[in-house]
Amino acid sequence: MAEKLKPRIDIPEELKWDLTAIFETQEEFEKVAEQLPKDVKIFADKYSGKLDNVELLIEAIQAYEALMAKASHLEQYGILPVSVDILDSEAQQQARHVSNVLANVSADLSFFNSQIQEIDKTTLNQLIEKEPKYIPFVRKIKAAKKAKLDPNVEKALAQLSPTFEAPSELFEQARSADADYGTFEVDGKEYELSFVLYEEVYMYHKNPKIRRAAYDQFNKVLGQYQNVVATAYYTHLQSEKTLATMRGYDSIFDYLLESQEVSQDLYHRQIDMIMNDFAPVMRKFVTHLKEVHGLDKMTYADLKVDLDPDYTTPITIEESKDLVKNAMAPLGEKYVNMILRSYPERWTDFAQNIGKRSGAFCSTTYGKHPYVMITWTGELTDAYTLFHELGHAGQGVLSNENNPLTSAEPSLYLIEGPSTFNELLLTDYLQNKSEDPRMERSVLSKMISKTYFHNFVTHLLEAAYQREVYKLIDAGKSFDAKKLSEIKRSILEQFWGDAVELEPGAELTWMRQIHYYMGLYPYTYSAGLTIATQAFLKIKSGEEKVDGWLEFLALGGQKVPSEATLVAGVDITTDRPLSDTIKYLDQSVDRIIELTGELNN
Ligand SMILES: [Zn+2]
Repeated sequence: MAEKLKPRIDIPEELKWDLTAIFETQEEFEKVAEQLPKDVKIFADKYSGKLDNVELLIEAIQAYEALMAKASHLEQYGILPVSVDILDSEAQQQARHVSNVLANVSADLSFFNSQIQEIDKTTLNQLIEKEPKYIPFVRKIKAAKKAKLDPNVEKALAQLSPTFEAPSELFEQARSADADYGTFEVDGKEYELSFVLYEEVYMYHKNPKIRRAAYDQFNKVLGQYQNVVATAYYTHLQSEKTLATMRGYDSIFDYLLESQEVSQDLYHRQIDMIMNDFAPVMRKFVTHLKEVHGLDKMTYADLKVDLDPDYTTPITIEESKDLVKNAMAPLGEKYVNMILRSYPERWTDFAQNIGKRSGAFCSTTYGKHPYVMITWTGELTDAYTLFHELGHAGQGVLSNENNPLTSAEPSLYLIEGPSTFNELLLTDYLQNKSEDPRMERSVLSKMISKTYFHNFVTHLLEAAYQREVYKLIDAGKSFDAKKLSEIKRSILEQFWGDAVELEPGAELTWMRQIHYYMGLYPYTYSAGLTIATQAFLKIKSGEEKVDGWLEFLALGGQKVPSEATLVAGVDITTDRPLSDTIKYLDQSVDRIIELTGELNN
């Protein structure tokens, strides 16, 4: 495992992503970074004040889309290198440079959004008559119209945008750069610790002594930063609330859900049903974990241990290609071939190196292929992560190919659907392939612990906590680190009940995720999982065809979430997708327990 990491410079090229697909050379990047602000000025001179003419309007939207595509290429080129090496100071500088260029670009383009919101209904209707592909764009304009501010204010806000990012950067610097996690000792042996090592290695360690000692040391260090992180977080929420009020929203929830095109009903249902109906399933699962591992008690530090850590399935990057070919086959040859392009074109950064961000992500941009960041350690779980991110990549490619830039982006509510769907395909493929009960149990328990535990539970518990914090902010109240810990602890107690002992440190979980700085993002994981699970179950049982799912993937932002999911046969305005998902997971946990019984006999 990742105990001694190499510096980025010593990593072979084939394990790194290839950024030349964005800009072939550094010179080309610099040229675009210099040219874009000039092009934006030309654009402004040409179209500002003339958008009420429908011909010019169409021309302007297309020119705007071309500028936005360039801006997003710059953004990727600026951000991606830092995410794989936070210690690279040149990359840091480049990221800041890009961020400044983009802030100015965005300020100079803000007239476009302001003026487009001034356009009268008749012109907007003429626009969609001539170019129906802009129907979703117009839908969003109409919604934004309600919340628009004076153009000068919009421009000032756009110029201030890098400062709105400051709280999350402060958090990132505190947890990853300033905090020194030191070492911890177990049975005379010393272990090095870092944020990434804790979250990616020791949290899952099969030895309870190492797991629990790492947990204690990790939280001891994390706790030293709680006041600065709480202050950063409070500042972030204050600015969100201020913006909400300025834009005429009484409730911060309505403000944050507006961009997702989701109602509060859907949001609250997701949190309430999982907190109430899914909690007993997870308690049953972790109690079984405790029994299988022969633990004295199930503590918060033990939750993420694998059910059967000695049963490992080593896997190479080369072998992951075969998994893609076989497990994704139900989605058809065209889809599989699209995903397979990621290998020779090096969409993915597989490297394990010092300074690489923890976790994994997929970054898509218009007109270029997606980029995926993961850390490949050679275990089956890496294949799950890869499938997940390639699910995002697939949706990104299809949405971009089938929609103009201004309506290519699906609602956040739908984002985790395609990624989870591919994880379910992998589980199904491996489960069907295996005749060994131990293999089947391992696959099913990985599905629970990897796919659902993380995305359906951990992130949902973030969401439930976040909901309480936003309620405070909405009511004009403030909070400090102590209050945040109190809220987090009470949410954890509510979910885990007597099944888990919440030793000190559990309450600091609010310091561990960048998601808290992304509005109402955490709950969308479970929403996406619900959509994927329901669609997957319906396709598996023959109730729906796979074509509906492929059509859903290509929708981009064409439809609001509640209509988009109907294309895949999923009605999210009812309880059924969630209750079916919970039932499926309950049965899977029962099957795991049954398999343990078989293995013990
Ligand atoms: Zn994801």
